[in-house]
Amino acid sequence: MSGLSMAYDYDLFVIGAGSGGVRAARLTALDGKKVAIAEEFRVGGTCVIRGCVPKKFMVMASDFAHQFETAEGYGWTVEASFDWPKFIQAKDVEIARLSGIYAANLGKAGVDLVHGRAVLKDAHTVEIVGKDRTITAEKILIATGGRPWMPETLPGIEHAISSEEAFHLPELPKRILIAGGGYIAVEFAGIFAGLGVETTLIYRGPNILRGFDDDVRAHLAGEIEKRGIKVILGCQHASIEKTETGLVNHLENGMTIETDVVMFATGRIPHVKDLGLETAGVELNDEGAIQVDPHSKTTAANIWAIGDVTDRMNLTPVAIREAVAFHQTVYRDNPQSFDYESVATAVFSQPPVGVVGLSESEARRTCNKGVDVYVTRFRPMKYAFTGSDERVLMKLVVDAETQRVVGVHIVGPEGPEMIQLAAIAVKAGLTKAQWDATCAVHPTMAEELVTLREKQSAANVSAG
Ligand code: NDP
Repeated sequence: MSGLSMAYDYDLFVIGAGSGGVRAARLTALDGKKVAIAEEFRVGGTCVIRGCVPKKFMVMASDFAHQFETAEGYGWTVEASFDWPKFIQAKDVEIARLSGIYAANLGKAGVDLVHGRAVLKDAHTVEIVGKDRTITAEKILIATGGRPWMPETLPGIEHAISSEEAFHLPELPKRILIAGGGYIAVEFAGIFAGLGVETTLIYRGPNILRGFDDDVRAHLAGEIEKRGIKVILGCQHASIEKTETGLVNHLENGMTIETDVVMFATGRIPHVKDLGLETAGVELNDEGAIQVDPHSKTTAANIWAIGDVTDRMNLTPVAIREAVAFHQTVYRDNPQSFDYESVATAVFSQPPVGVVGLSESEARRTCNKGVDVYVTRFRPMKYAFTGSDERVLMKLVVDAETQRVVGVHIVGPEGPEMIQLAAIAVKAGLTKAQWDATCAVHPTMAEELVTLREKQSAANVSAG
């Protein structure tokens, strides 16, 4: 049972009912502690309400177009049409159902759900804005996530939407321009292009997905162009102008492109505004995220922070692991910190990307005796009858000294599914010989991962 001091209303007060906050609140309440969680929007947070989950539904909706094309090669005749409002409604019903499950699970664990915006008044007190209510807690966990960032000074930026509005467009645009080259930009470009929208992606850098392996970046850029996305690199907006016929994107290189919708996917920033952090002694780091130690403790003695608001690795499963580590550390006397090494990630572009471990250039910097690189590019069997020149990329990066596989990079159908399993082997530190000792499953794409024998020669080593 709770050893709640009479001085406080709660043992733990969590601000933000997203993936991390909900997990921490439930685990702590299930231990018999008195816990409340505040949420100003809907329970579920970014992932469930305006991120991973609705995005994946949109990717799946959009991918059918490609499946229908493939089917025709196999003898099917498909007469397809797409009803955007019907899809949006179905998606919203499912999101509401999932949010309800999250809320119900909080209730089952005995967590009090407080609807409203919580603001810190001091290190132990929060006020629920507009509700004339203050609540005290021995410990506080901040899990407020992030929010989209757009270049506010760009003339005409008020005409642009972020991914958050893209989930609720009243109608499917005919033309869209997406600015940015990260996860969200690439994923939404694929969604809209698949749904038949004339799609342009503009990115300021030399190639999309900065930070990913250079072969992945080059391969994906080529593949999304094959799917009809116009990719403009090394360029950004000068301004956006609203006219009678649409939105005119004036680019710095002098080009103008008219579209119906302009979406900015230029990053997300920690949600710290007006939280009252300074009154509680919670400091930010130089990047504007809440500063935490490896156990997610902030600069205030009784306040912790997890998830995107700390800007460590902004992925849902990571926030959940940070929540578990917080709970173990603070309530189970078992200090834990999440290990950020070899976390697999997926970009749900079309085709998608699955990655775990080091890129080739990172491995070249960190492996003492260099790296062995194994790469294959091939046409998936499924496209044998379609005339498609779509190619899969698979790449293994191996530490030349230890022979451990330190990086796996896949661009192609089911890449995200494959990488989840490959991540086990990378996390376990298995060697290339151990991968090779694993018998193939035939015919699959994944079998390539255990049958790659030929090292990439120095002559065609990736520049990255
Ligand atoms: P990212 O940080 O991935 O990408 C932001 C993009 O915007 C980069 O290409 C960046 O360019 C560009 N950019 C930044 N500032 C400007 C500017 N002033 N003008 C023009 N371009 C600019 O952010 P996202 O918004 O795509 O996603 C946010 C985070 O959410 C991701 O980092 C990821 O952690 C998470 N996420 C994960 C997903 C998944 O797991 N599948 C899906 C979606 C999001 P540059 O590279 O040059 O800095």
